[in-house]
Amino acid sequence: MATIVGSVKPPPFDYVRAANLDDVWDALDADEDAKVIAGGQSLIPLLSLRFASPSLLVDLGALGELTGVQLTDSVLRIGALTRHCEVERNAAIRAAAPLLAEAATWVAHPQIRNRGTLGGSVAHGDSAAEFPAALLALDATMVARSRAGERRVAATDFFLSYFTTALEPGEILAAVELPVARSSSTWGFAEFARRRGDYAIGGAAVQAERDADGSCRSVRAGLLAAGPAPCLAPGLADAFAGRVVDRQLIAGVVDEALARLAPGENVHGSAGYRKDVIGEMLRRALASAFELGEVA
Ligand SMILES: Cc1cc2nc3c(=O)[nH]c(=O)nc-3n(C[C@H](O)[C@H](O)[C@H](O)COP(=O)(O)OP(=O)(O)OC[C@H]3O[C@@H](n4cnc5c(N)ncnc54)[C@H](O)[C@@H]3O)c2cc1C
Repeated sequence: MATIVGSVKPPPFDYVRAANLDDVWDALDADEDAKVIAGGQSLIPLLSLRFASPSLLVDLGALGELTGVQLTDSVLRIGALTRHCEVERNAAIRAAAPLLAEAATWVAHPQIRNRGTLGGSVAHGDSAAEFPAALLALDATMVARSRAGERRVAATDFFLSYFTTALEPGEILAAVELPVARSSSTWGFAEFARRRGDYAIGGAAVQAERDADGSCRSVRAGLLAAGPAPCLAPGLADAFAGRVVDRQLIAGVVDEALARLAPGENVHGSAGYRKDVIGEMLRRALASAFELGEVA
């Protein structure tokens, strides 16, 4: 194990590259201040800013168990180490979860998408991130792994608060599992940021199912930057169920959802401004999912 002294900005930390999962469990058991690192695209900036000071970084990068994309008839399983750029381009993901592939194109810039991992983004739990919102809309299941084995957590139970997830000490995220999109599935994604690639000021990821007569069978919308943790837009499923969705219905349902949200003020604007942005992005993503054409 090499010691890296913080000669640049991060505080000093030890580093170990795990060769297998037992190395991970041993390192985490031995040091309660240890942290795992995947692509490093969130953790390294946090270290450099000294917002985190783990004593040991356990690099997951060599673990084949956390890689790969597997598709069965009904489930798409994506390994935690799958990089953002692969989520964007992988043919199985594009076919079985096009909303997730689209969300990947909105994450940061190509350099970051070449290093960052899906699992890192999910475990980081930033409410302004694209993947958590898409995974909530897609009704994903997070596969947590520890020395004791695997544990599955619904996306709706996974994101708890500011950068806090349901992962427990000694657990890592191994994969995410998604229901495969059907021919009746439609989706929409909309995001507003100061510049393309910046973190979202507001956004929405929508996954819907329609019956043959065009009426809504189900709908879920994950929101970006709408609260402390990634969350679903409230009230959509009941309001849309069995109805043919038009712009008037969307406008009313979005207004009701917004009344139940309280995004805080931050450097990007007042709470009221941010609520307006989230509402507009939700209207656009819903209009896109229900194929109502471009919103003016
Ligand atoms: C300039 C810049 C702009 C960015 N813009 C965006 C953006 O617009 N949208 C966006 O979503 N993200 C953005 N990011 C963050 C980027 O997407 C990260 O890649 C991602 O958040 C974390 O993935 P990672 O693999 O790099 O994780 P790391 O940085 O390695 O880890 C992040 C956290 O997750 C934990 N972790 C990592 N993997 C696992 C695992 N398998 N199990 C358990 N815990 C794990 C680590 O311990 C750490 O706490 C940006 C980053 C930068 C530097």
